[in-house]
Amino acid sequence: MEDLSKWDKIGIMGGTFNPIHTGHLLLAQWAMEEAGLDGILFMPTGNSYMKDRGEMLPGSERLAMTTLAVADRDCFACSDLEVRRGGNTYTYETLETLHRMYPRSCLYFILGADCLFSIENWYCPEKIFQNCVLLAACRGGVPMETLEAKRRELEKRHGARILLMTFPNLEISSTDIRLRCREGRSIQYLVPDSVRNYISQNHYYENP
Ligand code: NAP
Repeated sequence: MEDLSKWDKIGIMGGTFNPIHTGHLLLAQWAMEEAGLDGILFMPTGNSYMKDRGEMLPGSERLAMTTLAVADRDCFACSDLEVRRGGNTYTYETLETLHRMYPRSCLYFILGADCLFSIENWYCPEKIFQNCVLLAACRGGVPMETLEAKRRELEKRHGARILLMTFPNLEISSTDIRLRCREGRSIQYLVPDSVRNYISQNHYYENP
């Protein structure tokens, strides 16, 4: 992985990325502008133990697509940390590792605001709260007052640092993209062209 120590504020965009799509890239771009981040580190998961494994491509393949997706932006980078680590992916471990690698940088973990209601069930949530600022994207669904109340609760109970940012509700999902591939429909504009070509060349997601 390239040296990011020049970035004072590092955004971390974690995801299964099966496959990475335009919604993920726009969220990263938006987060960077909202929080004045120096760049975004995309982090494909190793084994997302909370996800259905049915159609999950191996980490190396999801990593390859994510690398292609961010290749043309200097302020976007991709990490193989979680894919290489193997086993179940725990965000707290990733944050602790990044914190050791970049002790002078502040880490911002980007996630959908809905996750604020489940993050206490993730592995070692205290260590997540300790090692990063959470940058939560509010996409309609839950009313802003409810999210504000949850933010205050997590701050009070765990000393969590949480920034809420509004983000348009884009109806793009990896599930829908996989379905389109299976049905032979186009995924143009939903994923970068480099990723679309890679998926097509490798016949990914064509068979259930
Ligand atoms: P994902 O489905 O690939 O999505 C990645 C991120 O992009 C999520 O925050 C997701 O928010 C957001 N996103 C997806 N579609 C979007 C759209 N159209 N517009 C805007 N944002 C969109 O990844 P995931 O499996 O949920 O995992 C997210 C991260 O949480 C990973 O780093 C994972 O390791 C971590 N996690 C950790 C634990 C743990 O440590 N125990 C448990 C669970 C997850 P939404 O989910 O709100 O769509």
